[in-house]
Amino acid sequence: MCGIVAYSGPKETLPLLVNGLSRLEYRGYDSSGVAVVSSEKLFIEKKSGKLSQLKDALEGNTTDGNVGIGHTRWATHGIPNDENAHPHQNEDNKFALVHNGIIENYVQIKEALLNDGIDFTSDTDTEVVAQQLAKEWDGDLLSTTIGVAKNLKGTYALVVVTEHEPDTIVAGRMMSALVLGVGEGEVFLASDSAAILEHTNKMIFLENGDFVEIHDGSYKLFDSDMNEIQREIQIIDWEVSEAE
Ligand code: GLU
Repeated sequence: MCGIVAYSGPKETLPLLVNGLSRLEYRGYDSSGVAVVSSEKLFIEKKSGKLSQLKDALEGNTTDGNVGIGHTRWATHGIPNDENAHPHQNEDNKFALVHNGIIENYVQIKEALLNDGIDFTSDTDTEVVAQQLAKEWDGDLLSTTIGVAKNLKGTYALVVVTEHEPDTIVAGRMMSALVLGVGEGEVFLASDSAAILEHTNKMIFLENGDFVEIHDGSYKLFDSDMNEIQREIQIIDWEVSEAE
């Protein structure tokens, strides 16, 4: 179980994600990756090994996207290699997601998807979630994600983007930490406040079963029945170094 960082706002997304991931390096990891929704297309890069390998692979890349997700992986299912690194995508690459935790019933979900003729590209437990999102897509990322999450057993912090809704991020958690950072016209997500504390000290620590829909730098929180809920914003007054 390792780290997540995500961003929605006006700043250049890619360097911001990579910087956030570097703040999570202290947790240990075996692979890293990013996805940015750029001109309604998903740009993805992921590498096993050190974050420096991801940085080398990203050298010279600029993306114009304002929505992005990043991950450092600590492999639980599938060896550390480029294919098993996150983000994971569905078969036609319309959805991308990062995940911390373990999907305990992934074998059953995968068998059903294989029976549908879906091709998998990784050995992870996580990929079933991306494939299932495409299978259950109902035209709305929040309701599709909540519907898919209802049938997951195990632990997750999940952060999802899709070409179908290029300005939206949807995230949810169950037993894996996920914190929302509230900035001015920008919103962050991270598994650990250390990843985003240099940008904002206003944090909402999501609770089990919470979901968040982020759109154009603002957010709404929901329970697993899609009722809108409120959570208190906490002001974190540690220095970034103390948080790390
Ligand atoms: N279980 C997932 C995997 O092995 C996520 C691991 C993590 O939390 O980094 O890819």
